[in-house]
Amino acid sequence: MSRIGTGWDIHKLVPGRDLVLGGVKIDSPKGCLGHSDGDALIHAVIDAILGACSMGDIGTLFPDTDPQYKGISSTVLLSQVMDSVREKGFRIVNVDTTVILQSPKMGPYKDEIRSRMAKLLGVGEDCFCVKAKTAEHMLGELGTGDAVVCQAVCLID
Ligand code: MG
Repeated sequence: MSRIGTGWDIHKLVPGRDLVLGGVKIDSPKGCLGHSDGDALIHAVIDAILGACSMGDIGTLFPDTDPQYKGISSTVLLSQVMDSVREKGFRIVNVDTTVILQSPKMGPYKDEIRSRMAKLLGVGEDCFCVKAKTAEHMLGELGTGDAVVCQAVCLID
């Protein structure tokens, strides 16, 4: 039986933080504010996977009040989720994502993100997609480059 899940995440972008999306560091003067490394793309993917498996959500599994997750790489969180997914006998079929970021342009990073995420998810590179859009200078902080939104949908069986 196939199952589907969706994920969505938003992070504020501030100076003095690294911008990490899909486990890849993006060259940017601002980065994601967050308790972990603030990787909004991985957070959206985790929620899509958890949703597909009916396993709750990222905030319940990894509370931002828990000091053990302070500054942690979100790739570690995704690896933990993938361990639980496999234990339950689920397998990722494919994951599709969209990053909405005013700047910098994501184009140069897409291949590296796809390769990194496919490895973390245990799927072929043709089963993970990252698409990028700007906010066309609209939608408040998104359009001024002070926030990033990521969306994900995941199919499992
Ligand atoms: Mg988040």
